[in-house]
Amino acid sequence: MSELAKYKFIRPEMNHDFVCKAEGVFSSFSELFSDSKEYVVFPGFCDVHVHFREPGFSYKETIYDGCCAAARGGYTAVCTMPNLNPVPDSVEHLKMQIDIIERDAIINVYPYASITVNEAGNELSDMENLADMAIAFSDDGRGVQSDDMMREAMKKAKALDKIIVAHCEVNSLLKGGYIHDGEYAKHHNHRGICSASEYEQIARDIELVKEIGCKYHVCHISTKESVELIRQAKKDGVDITCETGPHYLVIDDSDLQEDGRFKMNPPLRSREDRLALIEGIKDGTIDMIATDHAPHSAEEKAKGLEKSAFGIVGLETALPVLYTKLVKTGIITLNKLVDLLCVNPRKRFNIPMGEDITVWDLNEEFTVDVNDFLSLGKATEFTSVIYLLKSHFR
Ligand SMILES: [Zn+2]
Repeated sequence: MSELAKYKFIRPEMNHDFVCKAEGVFSSFSELFSDSKEYVVFPGFCDVHVHFREPGFSYKETIYDGCCAAARGGYTAVCTMPNLNPVPDSVEHLKMQIDIIERDAIINVYPYASITVNEAGNELSDMENLADMAIAFSDDGRGVQSDDMMREAMKKAKALDKIIVAHCEVNSLLKGGYIHDGEYAKHHNHRGICSASEYEQIARDIELVKEIGCKYHVCHISTKESVELIRQAKKDGVDITCETGPHYLVIDDSDLQEDGRFKMNPPLRSREDRLALIEGIKDGTIDMIATDHAPHSAEEKAKGLEKSAFGIVGLETALPVLYTKLVKTGIITLNKLVDLLCVNPRKRFNIPMGEDITVWDLNEEFTVDVNDFLSLGKATEFTSVIYLLKSHFR
């Protein structure tokens, strides 16, 4: 895995320790975004969707290595998803993760607790006792299939004033798919994942939220229908927010290669979906960008599209990718990007800004080299897709 990029990204200048604390240095955000060619100082980014794999899968990522990757990417706060072993469905199980965080974390790490026991969807986790220890509740990695189970979870979450963070996926529609059910799948004989598997569950949840009135957040939306459903729900006054990932905004299934680096769940959708997501970013339907940083071993990602594990890393490339593809191209402003990476997630999840900052030189270009990643995961689609910049956004 020593592929070098053939195009340039904007590079963080202060390398390993450019995340630092500053006290009383900046009086307002506007002060941070001058057009100066000097270093640019941002408020520390906040990613509400990462997989740090401990306890249970430390060969994929540890909390320490995940934190280092996050810090290099400019993140000073992350929320860790609960598809672990054991799943944090009880105080005892969550405590195991918190102990590691207290020992190893070098940035602020806020763990999720699961919605259901073992994320199996059959029985609620100990939500009452977990509420004070967890940032929110999620069964990320799988959807809660049963309407009744989700209804009960939302009722509990409402009583506890916690957010339900939903990975929306209808299992019965998956049919063994592993990439988007679109042109690429058709032409290369792959089994596709249809868009409805995502948006049908979002539609169901929106109705439940209307009925119950809890706080609700949708993970990694990838389809145009999802954007439209959430846009309408917001107009209807539903307490809903959502995130998408950097990859869904800058590449699509026309960029797919026969390589595990292009496999994640949800999958890269069509160009139309991607453009709808960009519209969603622009009009505020999509509140935040979360990387869904999901490291796996090299072996697990070396089995092509069909057999590789779902998930790619994202913390170390998010800002360079988004700045290069969305800000430099004039699609969104730098201020908007900071809202998406920092201000909005912190607001929704009530994560304090503190004095965290991250410092970048936006004029210096660099080449992505996965061997240089601090994450144990090296699978990223942003190494060789040189045609990304070409014409998508013209
Ligand atoms: Zn997910």
